[in-house]
Amino acid sequence: MQRDGIDHENAQMSDIQCDFCHKPWTMERAMVEGHRGACVCSDCLTVAYAELVLHKVGSPASPEEICIMCREERDDPHWRSHMFDEALACRRCIKQAAGVLHKDRDVAWAKPAASTEK
Ligand SMILES: [Zn+2]
Ligand SMILES: [Zn+2]
Repeated sequence: MQRDGIDHENAQMSDIQCDFCHKPWTMERAMVEGHRGACVCSDCLTVAYAELVLHKVGSPASPEEICIMCREERDDPHWRSHMFDEALACRRCIKQAAGVLHKDRDVAWAKPAASTEK
């Protein structure tokens, strides 16, 4: 998402915030953009990917809710932000975002591995 009161003529990295933790985009915290400016940062992606893909603890979205990354109704399990209740992402988007970051050579991010499971 874009920070409130963003100066569109002079937008900075820090004007972009993760929709799931509301932290700004930095060199250390990569962002993947979804639909309509929704963003997920590498920190949240790690948690979401581990929960949805490794631990399979996602839950279906309730009928009045949709994934904020793709804005589509899906039967996929969804991940909800631990900090902001309204921030919901479907497994497809989390997998897609993880794929993008994983391949980005400028970003030192790797998919959480199953071997780190407790
Ligand atoms: Zn985040
Ligand atoms: Zn989605």
